[in-house]
Amino acid sequence: MRTPLIAGNWKMNGSLQSVIELVEGIKAGEAGKAQLAVCPPAVYLMKVGGMLDGTGIALGAQNVCDRETGAFTGEISASMLKESGCQYAIVGHSERRALYQESDELVARRFAMAAASGLVPILCIGETLEQREKGVTEAVVSRQLDAVIEQQGVSVIGQAVIAYEPVWAIGTGKVATPEQAQAVHGFIREKLATLDAGVADKVQILYGGSMNPANAGELLSKPDIDGGLIGGASLKAADFLAIGQSA
Ligand code: PEP
Repeated sequence: MRTPLIAGNWKMNGSLQSVIELVEGIKAGEAGKAQLAVCPPAVYLMKVGGMLDGTGIALGAQNVCDRETGAFTGEISASMLKESGCQYAIVGHSERRALYQESDELVARRFAMAAASGLVPILCIGETLEQREKGVTEAVVSRQLDAVIEQQGVSVIGQAVIAYEPVWAIGTGKVATPEQAQAVHGFIREKLATLDAGVADKVQILYGGSMNPANAGELLSKPDIDGGLIGGASLKAADFLAIGQSA
């Protein structure tokens, strides 16, 4: 039985004041049985981590450097994230891949550094609308997964979380239907099962892309959807908690 994980990706939103209010709102509400995690902008990690102490809500980073230490201006190492209280680190978000040209290979190296440091990488994979319309969704998510597996072996996936995020559904209000999402989640799990049945059975596969309190229940009822990576709806405590309760 996989515990559902509902992770909020706050992206580059908010201010110190609004972040404090958001954490207070989340702490004040009813979370349900899902594991909750929040990924605030890096400058707020320690503040948010301190506020979440003792709540059981986990802290995550939105990215992690692929190097350990040194002259990498603007980057943040996995050990710094650990020290700041993070348990999770998102890698390969489609915004990083598209806007900052992060290749599959770089994403795999970021993943490796996170995993080696004891962070749980949340590996984001997913196709664009053009790729879906061309019928290459499975090929795209396979390639993105293979970049990690070929570099580090399949067992490392057992220490990670996968987030299937169709790019066309992110921030657009166009959610994948539960059937569309389940089809890709099922494909990912079957692909992993051909390499290691234990890893396939264990790994949490989250759906991400315009998930909200109205559509979460149906998506989360699918057998291979083990939670959500939530963007916009995670910026409102009530919506985030409502998604948590449907898990
Ligand atoms: C995301 O960016 O990971 C995401 C799922 O965003 P949204 O929920 O806003 O579509």
